[in-house]
Amino acid sequence: MSFTVAIDGPAAAGKGTISKAVAAHFGFAHLDTGLLYRAVGRRMLRGEDPVAAAQSLRAEDLQGDDLRGPEVAQAASKVAVIPEVRTALVDFQRAFATRAGGAVLDGRDIGTVICPEAQVKLFVTASAEVRAERRFAELAAKGLNVTFEGVLEDVRARDARDAERATAPMVAAADAVALDTSDLSIEAAVARAIAVVGAARQGA
Ligand code: C5P
Repeated sequence: MSFTVAIDGPAAAGKGTISKAVAAHFGFAHLDTGLLYRAVGRRMLRGEDPVAAAQSLRAEDLQGDDLRGPEVAQAASKVAVIPEVRTALVDFQRAFATRAGGAVLDGRDIGTVICPEAQVKLFVTASAEVRAERRFAELAAKGLNVTFEGVLEDVRARDARDAERATAPMVAAADAVALDTSDLSIEAAVARAIAVVGAARQGA
């Protein structure tokens, strides 16, 4: 039987950590859908047409450390405004969501467009400053040459592009549970998410 957990929200709000922890706790599979857009964005940076890239995405496109870097993140949010790119990625995400044994998908439009029927929807947020601080610490720890101001600017630019695009903008589903992690430790945020999923599972 399938059981889908949709986790949406802006960059660096804690979606990735929460999604991985929820998946591990319940034994569900996890898909970070941002990686699909990042893979398309990276192929665009290498000179390919983004629609053709999205239509021919391969497993090896999801490899490589630079996939998680800031340049690819900006490229991802640029290709993500193209409706044909989004359409090309829908079937893969839906198949993943309905696999037997349960699935957690995190992204921007999972609860609204990809899996409107998901049994659990979470919308994870935090202030732009808190998110930029977290992302800055993460990138600096990897040895990348970044400044806090630069990261904050990137976070704001990506938020604006993701929230204002015409197709599948980043928005909380009407029935999503909001989780603001600005003042929460990661342990507390994870515990809340697990409690929400656990309650829905009991009711399912
Ligand atoms: O989650 P992540 O930061 O890796 O996503 C990179 C970009 O991919 C986002 O800024 C957004 O533009 C796009 N994206 C999207 N829909 C998703 C996941 C990511 O548009 N479901």
